[in-house]
This record gives sequence, structure tokens and C-alpha cells, in this order.
Amino acid sequence: MQVITSIIDLQLFLSNSKGSVGFVPTMGALHQGHISLINKAKSENETVVCSIFVNPTQFNNADDLKKYPRTIEADNQMLLTAGCDVVFVPSVEEMYPSGNQLLNLDLQTLDQVMEGKFRAGHFKGVVTIVKRLFDAVKPNKAYFGKKDFQQLAVIRYMVKVLGLSVEIIGCPILREKNGLAMSSRNMRLSTEQRAKAGLIFKTLTYTKQNIHIHTPLALIEQAIKTFENSDLKLEYFEIVDPQTLLPIITFDKNRGAVACVALYAGDVRLIDNMEL
Ligand code: AMP
Repeated sequence: MQVITSIIDLQLFLSNSKGSVGFVPTMGALHQGHISLINKAKSENETVVCSIFVNPTQFNNADDLKKYPRTIEADNQMLLTAGCDVVFVPSVEEMYPSGNQLLNLDLQTLDQVMEGKFRAGHFKGVVTIVKRLFDAVKPNKAYFGKKDFQQLAVIRYMVKVLGLSVEIIGCPILREKNGLAMSSRNMRLSTEQRAKAGLIFKTLTYTKQNIHIHTPLALIEQAIKTFENSDLKLEYFEIVDPQTLLPIITFDKNRGAVACVALYAGDVRLIDNMEL
């Protein structure tokens, strides 16, 4: 496995490789959720590139950026074991040579709702870094987890409006035994918090099981009550259209629906979702 830190070296390496390039962008602190994306990329491409870059421009909270877990040696080991070909680990200067200038892309309402409401500017940072990484790697296919459902919708939108030639592949959410979605941030949970966070999956599952019985609004109210009676501090629980991410009033089989949640367990912010 090649560990590459500069765009020039990356492009030199890739210019000598044959066949399609699959790309998995990450912020490191890897877990099996990330590795499932690498495995999928490996099954569909000749060369797999994984990037590890904790992108400063998508953090709206300096403390969150500082506390974000960094485990580069363990990450490299996991990627090597998974059979990844290249790990691209650029510096902030490499990715932002002229400062934190953001891509000026109108994301319509996609970055106004849910995460966008609570993390101002987050998606501007996400599209900026993903576009720069796409420019550097020039992948045929790029793999994103549905764990970050809104991010996936934003990236699909960016690719469409900018007419990029990369194919975006959405991959299923990997979960712990108690249903907690795997996340780099889970490392910061105590054993007790981790156990209690199983309530997120339970509530999403209850919501999914009851879409034929209750309205979206009634299910949201029930979920809010459930979290009020727990140690988890809810930011939002919404049931939205999978494309527009706008709240839905009634369930429509043809459009589908997704329940999205963000909350705090102690000072660790967790997000999750379930397609209904
Ligand atoms: P991150 O390192 O958190 O930026 O995540 C990198 C990629 O891994 C994103 O596309 C995430 O959606 C994806 N990912 C993170 N957690 C999971 C998970 N539990 N299951 C599947 N994909 C995931």
C-alpha cells in the first residue's frame, strides 16, 4: 500500500495504474463502517484510493475539530489489511494552498435543513473538500456511507450541477451489536453512554415499523418524548423526503421517506437515520 501526501505524487502514481479508480474519502479514526466502503470499492475497481483528511472547513466548532479522534497508524494498518492500494494523507496546506477559500455552490435548501440548521457552513466545507479530492484523485466511482444521509444527498447534487463524471455509490450503514451506528466519535463514549445510545436505533426501528399506523408528525412526537425520558439530548428528529430532505406530511410509497436524528450523548454528537 502506498502512503502518499502530495497531489503531484498521487497523480503520478495513478497515471501508472490501469483500470477504474474507486475512491473512499474519510476523516480517519477508521472502523468497520469505513472498511465496508473499501471492500465495496475493491469489488468494483482495479485501484482503490482512501483519503484521510480531517477537514477544518466543515467543523463549525473549534473544540469539536480539536477533539476529533486521530489514529493514523491504526488506520493505515486497517487499510493495509483490507487491501487498499493508496492512502492519501494530505496536509491542510496541500488541500487549502490559498487559505480556507470555499467552493461557492448554491445547495438550494439541502444545506438549510437538519445538519445545516445546527452546523452552519458545514456542507460548504464538505462540498469544497470533496470537490478538491475529486480533482486530485479523478475517481471513476466514489463511495459514501448512508450514515451521513444528508451529506450523500448534497454530494449527489454537487456532482449533478457541476456535471462531474464520477459515479456516486451510497453504501449501507454498519452498526454495533446494540444497533448504534458505527462512528469515529463512538470512541469518545463511555461504556454506559454507548449502551444507552442503543435507544437511537430502537427509536428509528419503532418509527419504521409504525409508518402504516401513525402520521409522520405523530411518530416525530413519540420519538421526541422517548429521548426526553432518556440521558440523550435531542437536537432534531425529522422524517423527510429522501431527495429534497424536506419534512413530509404523509407517507408516499413512491417517494419514500427517511427518519433522521441528531443528538448528544454527553458531549459527543451522534447522527443516525433509517430509510422507512
Ligand atoms: P467520516 O470519516 O466520518 O467522514 O466517514 C467517511 C465515510 O464513511 C462517509 O462516507 C461516511 O458516511 C462513511 N461511514 C461512516 N460511518 C459509517 C457506517 N457506520 N456505516 C457505513 N458507512 C459509514
